[in-house]
Amino acid sequence: MRALSLLYHDVVEGGDWDASGFPGALPAAYKLERRDFENHLSAVSRVAARRGTVRDLFQPVPGPPPVLLTFDDGGASAYACVADLLERAGWRGHFLVTTDYIDTPGFVTRAQLRELVGRGHVIGSHSCSHPNPMSRCGWDRLVAEWTRSAAVLADVLGEPVRVASVPGGAFSRRVAAAAAAAGLTALFTSEPTARCRVVDGCLVLGRFVLRRGDPPKRAAALASGNLRARLSQLVVWNLKKIAKAVGGDLYPALSRLVHERAR
Ligand SMILES: [Zn+2]
Repeated sequence: MRALSLLYHDVVEGGDWDASGFPGALPAAYKLERRDFENHLSAVSRVAARRGTVRDLFQPVPGPPPVLLTFDDGGASAYACVADLLERAGWRGHFLVTTDYIDTPGFVTRAQLRELVGRGHVIGSHSCSHPNPMSRCGWDRLVAEWTRSAAVLADVLGEPVRVASVPGGAFSRRVAAAAAAAGLTALFTSEPTARCRVVDGCLVLGRFVLRRGDPPKRAAALASGNLRARLSQLVVWNLKKIAKAVGGDLYPALSRLVHERAR
């Protein structure tokens, strides 16, 4: 089974990066200006062979892999801006929420989450506390992060929550096994792959991350399943893993190099 899942975070206006989601320069590198996101959405809409949600993957139909749009962290822009833009373009999104931050400044509220579900969007967990890296958490902490966050959302929404995404992209098989043990049935990672797999009964889906400065044509290439665009993300992903392993300063330079070549 395959799905082309794109990973976005917050969408802000006027360079007000801290208006939605986690504050600071590092999170801001993953946020898009509203105008830029609108251009991404137009470009993706033009090429997406099939618009879908994770729900479709549990009743697969023949045809091209669906394109899934996901938004991590649970920043206020999910309700204030993103959901409207998606609906106008005929999409429904996946909003993955860090539940300790619900109802705090810059993040979605309980009432907004209920409304988003009523409008057909998928709400899922992005852990309780956004541990970084999550893969280094002990087993009990992992299960608690998934169990408690899903329970908080279920309480808010009045229905079970079975979808989640891994904070910080720190994925390991143990993180997925803990999600499965907590009753989750679909887990988005940040691994740039269209391939889905199953860990202990939980469907694990890779995603292609889009960051500030990425051109709309890159989003379109990824949404159309373009092999070169997908491989370029895979190369960067693997470089990142190597750079982390050796602890050097090599990654930013290599990442820039690969991105420049892929533009
Ligand atoms: Zn996150």
